[in-house]
Amino acid sequence: MIPTLATKRNEHNNRAAYLPFGAKRDGPLRHQHILSVKQFTPRDLDAVIAVADEMRIIVERIGAFDLLHGKVLAVLFYEPSTRTSASFIAAMQRLGGGFIPINEVRYSSVAKGESLPDTIRTLEGYADVIALRHPETGAAALAAQYARKPIINAGDGIGEHPTQALLDLFTLIKERGALDGATVTMLGDLKYGRTVHSLARALALYNVKLNYVSPDILRMPRELVAELNARGIQQTETSALQDVLGATDVLYVTRVQKERFANLEEYEAVKDAYVITPETLTHAKADMALMHPLPRVGEISPAVDCDPRAAYFRQVEYGMYVRMALLAMVLGKA
Ligand code: ASP
Repeated sequence: MIPTLATKRNEHNNRAAYLPFGAKRDGPLRHQHILSVKQFTPRDLDAVIAVADEMRIIVERIGAFDLLHGKVLAVLFYEPSTRTSASFIAAMQRLGGGFIPINEVRYSSVAKGESLPDTIRTLEGYADVIALRHPETGAAALAAQYARKPIINAGDGIGEHPTQALLDLFTLIKERGALDGATVTMLGDLKYGRTVHSLARALALYNVKLNYVSPDILRMPRELVAELNARGIQQTETSALQDVLGATDVLYVTRVQKERFANLEEYEAVKDAYVITPETLTHAKADMALMHPLPRVGEISPAVDCDPRAAYFRQVEYGMYVRMALLAMVLGKA
């Protein structure tokens, strides 16, 4: 059983944050926690993208270098992960650093009931930066209140996944050359999908048009739509992909998040609402980019993988460069 934040928060509410959020802002993201896309300025995004591209070139040329030699990353994951955890670890290794993986929380003291703040305060005794994934929204922000070392939110429940949004932006730029003027269509589980919550906020810093396609019960959260409306972002909602597919430059498909449903019958009713097939792509632009944060469980047919528009495995690789950039930046080495 993972201790809940609600129970643990009270036990620790007298502890002051050691490193205030956003402190020492003497370089983009330097010594900062990465908690939400809301914290990023356009300058931060430009910097991450530029540094990630440098990382890509270095990895392609020499594979690894010692920028973070002597630094250690703790990877504390209370939820399953393949790409996020592996890419953080690969990123740290390619930068010459070490890592402590804690993803089997049932074998750690978390299984004994240790609170998140205590776990964080323990790990930061060993590590210089902590990547945290947790099922509860706000977990990374809570951890940051107790941490002296940078916390990187690697997904907090249905809240946000800011490092995924950064790698999505990087992929968009790599696939299309530029973001401004793009029409981005997000498809699938927009209610529980933290990746689209972060990506929509990140895209709102550019001149883009957003389409949301979902079953009625999985629409984008109202507060997020209102937030982006207030920022003047053009947003359209529909349940029919064909309404918007022809005008779409980037189709961002998401998995229906089974683990977030209280009622499995509701999940069964919507799980196959959309399946992208080669036939679907005959109605799409020839240069559209098809993205997915992965894992996919049926919403994109494998028959689509050989279509040049299928960008999701390139997206996976870009994630490592972006996480290399982020580690270097928060540790003040970029
Ligand atoms: N891997 C992504 C996440 O952790 C997307 C997903 O699980 O569907 O949010």
